[in-house]
Amino acid sequence: MIQDVIREIQASREEILAKAQSAKIFLELSDQKRLMRASDILRADKVKIQQQSLEEILGECIPSDSSGEAYRVSFRVRAFRVRGATCTCHDGQNGEVCKHALALCMRWLLDLQSSWKKLEEARKVLLGSPQP
Ligand SMILES: [Zn+2]
Repeated sequence: MIQDVIREIQASREEILAKAQSAKIFLELSDQKRLMRASDILRADKVKIQQQSLEEILGECIPSDSSGEAYRVSFRVRAFRVRGATCTCHDGQNGEVCKHALALCMRWLLDLQSSWKKLEEARKVLLGSPQP
């Protein structure tokens, strides 16, 4: 938790906001039906982030019928654009942005939101705001 906060503090606020913005646009431009399916995946807690660097998010996604191996899914996010979403599922292999990649993006945005809250709390402490 502390490490999360430290990592987020190290990245600039502007960069975090720009990445969140590009992820949001990425989702907004995606196929509506796939977005709905991605939401279902997210709600069922079938997508997990396994590893992330400043620009690449790697995760896995349990298939909808819960059988077989989990799909390996990733996407790269930079300020101003999301690029290179990949997945080992059928659609992903055909170069499409599949529901798993969208679900991973949603998961990442939600995590980013909670990291952001921690960052803001840490900033308040660091800036010496009075505690309630
Ligand atoms: Zn997929």
